[in-house]
Amino acid sequence: MDCIFCKIANKEIPSELIYEDDNVVAFNDLSPQAPIHFLVIPKKHYESLNDIDSQVVFGQIFSTIPKIAEKLNIKEYRTVVNTGKSAGQTVFHLHVHVMSGRNFTWPAG
Ligand code: AMP
Ligand code: ZN
Repeated sequence: MDCIFCKIANKEIPSELIYEDDNVVAFNDLSPQAPIHFLVIPKKHYESLNDIDSQVVFGQIFSTIPKIAEKLNIKEYRTVVNTGKSAGQTVFHLHVHVMSGRNFTWPAG
């Protein structure tokens, strides 16, 4: 399957992973929208949040975030999951954005 995030997860594309375990990887966003902006993805391909087949997947993703945050020494951050084109999803492999290092407004644009 021609999926850029699958290629990052299975290392077909070299990229600097900031976290990896059996199920999840995290890496810096190519086009950061904050001083710290990384993505956490499941290694298994799911097109979007609508596609997940088990609540375990989201637990695996979200439970890594505080571990990475601690490593990066950040305590406050914005997490975002865009689902579908109109919500801003451009890469159709489930991912959670984690952004930090500036103030964020609400509601998101
Ligand atoms: P979304 O718009 O929610 O689908 O987010 C996709 C994100 O992936 C965007 O913030 C892009 O900057 C980022 N992105 C796309 N390609 C890559 C890549 N090869 N490495 C890291 N981040 C990427
Ligand atoms: Zn994929």
